[in-house]
Amino acid sequence: MRVGFGHDTHRLVTGRKLILGGVQLPSRKGLLGHSDADVLLHAVSDALLGAAGLGDIGELFPDTEPSNRDMNSRIILEKAHALIQGKSYRIINLDCIIFAEDIRISPFKERIRESLSRILSLEKADVNIKAKTGEGLDAVGRGEAVAACCIALLQPV
Ligand code: MG
Repeated sequence: MRVGFGHDTHRLVTGRKLILGGVQLPSRKGLLGHSDADVLLHAVSDALLGAAGLGDIGELFPDTEPSNRDMNSRIILEKAHALIQGKSYRIINLDCIIFAEDIRISPFKERIRESLSRILSLEKADVNIKAKTGEGLDAVGRGEAVAACCIALLQPV
């Protein structure tokens, strides 16, 4: 079996949508990024690529590439998933944490879990979503950013 870890942070700004795990959340602010800035899908994608020894999403989808602008991060995750499947791995489970201060994640955790399990054709039981605040500390704690981590376990098919 192979384990992979992904982490990502995006800046919270006005005038952008807040999309986490493929789910749009009601928020005055959204995440800034070259793509749709879905920080959770980026962390999950990197966890999958890391587990299979396939680098990271910055190599697959450079932010210098104009065609990646405002890209739906679902495409990034689907590409990462296809690559690990191409290496004959399948996902056993994912465990994720979203770090956000003023955005209430808990009412949307189940929808995010469903979204992620649907994109990756997993059982809901194999996708876990946790939410933490920054306790008023660091960029997350000051409400300037949202971060996410994911650990993924893969097994050879
Ligand atoms: Mg990112």
